[in-house]
Amino acid sequence: MTKRDYYEILGVSKTASVDEIKKSYRKLAMKYHPDRVSEDKRKEAEEQFKEISESYAILSDQDKRSKYDQFGHAGINNQYSSEDIFRGTDFGSIFEDFGGGGGIFEELFSGFGGGGGRRRQGPRRGADLEYPLNITFEEAAVGIEKKFSIRRKETCNTCNGEGAQPGTKKATCLVCQGSGQVSQSAGFFSIARTCERCRGEGQIIETPCKTCRGGGTVPVDRKIQVKIPAGVDSGAHLRVRGEGEPGAKGGPRGDLYVTIRLKKHDLFERHNSDVYCKVPVSFVKAALGSEIEVPTIYKEKIKMKVPAGTQSGKMFRLSGKGFPDLRGYNKGDAYVVVNISVPTKINAQQKKLLLEFAKLSGEDVTQGSFTEKIKKAFK
Ligand SMILES: [Zn+2]
Ligand SMILES: [Zn+2]
Repeated sequence: MTKRDYYEILGVSKTASVDEIKKSYRKLAMKYHPDRVSEDKRKEAEEQFKEISESYAILSDQDKRSKYDQFGHAGINNQYSSEDIFRGTDFGSIFEDFGGGGGIFEELFSGFGGGGGRRRQGPRRGADLEYPLNITFEEAAVGIEKKFSIRRKETCNTCNGEGAQPGTKKATCLVCQGSGQVSQSAGFFSIARTCERCRGEGQIIETPCKTCRGGGTVPVDRKIQVKIPAGVDSGAHLRVRGEGEPGAKGGPRGDLYVTIRLKKHDLFERHNSDVYCKVPVSFVKAALGSEIEVPTIYKEKIKMKVPAGTQSGKMFRLSGKGFPDLRGYNKGDAYVVVNISVPTKINAQQKKLLLEFAKLSGEDVTQGSFTEKIKKAFK
């Protein structure tokens, strides 16, 4: 059986951000969640649910995604076992408000490795964060180290993330009798839902921690330093491991995804690794031929010969003056597009010379002559 394309399955573009992928997966998961369909469609929904979940596991992980982008399904199959595919995928945060979401994962994937489900009472990995980072053409050309600050949650030191004021005890939740789940019948099914009273913890905090007000976390500004590789383009995601939200109950932190946005440049336009630049050249220089200075994304100016008789729109290639590719093997080119400029102010002397020039070229430039010609042509 040929496998379908992961992007197609999730209905996202190849350049979709982690956030877009997550949103799309969530939407589809709601649709195909086997608890949400009637019994006769359950088997089919389970298959579709597995398919979208595998796609999400691959595309939400930068390493797996780039393997897939480069080598397709073969790249994934050669590198990862079906167990590895789901390893590290954070399904927990997506299904937090789903009720019994973790359970359905354990059930569906038990056949091949019991991947993404989380045990309600056990350690949970923290959520991933995304940070958009604007960089200039010049920075993207050579790569740069960037420092910025993100606001994220840290485990509260006062209560160790427990949420209860130190020295106080938690009480067993009376709604679920400490199980963390309540049963609810919906149509043919009885669905186990997370207890709303205790949020699935089975225990109630009676005296919340004064520092975090019972949440177990406090917001903290965290300085992040990240190396941006040369050649990077808009939409690239750089993963900074372990800089996301803290995990619960000793679980690992999530990751931080830095999404690159290339700022618009006044002079340059980028197409893949090539750069285009419009350079004004006076009509005198273009007619006579000349040497002009052109800017590059490498903050240097290059001298370039413009041959006599160059027309507006003529393109010259500066080999290797574009962006490098991310592996550093090749560089794109820079294209200089000549834009002939006409003087907006001329004095009497210049005008006289221009008219003389026109006369020598056999050109009739007396005012109204064009109108006369049109009149003649349409008689
Ligand atoms: Zn606290
Ligand atoms: Zn409860």
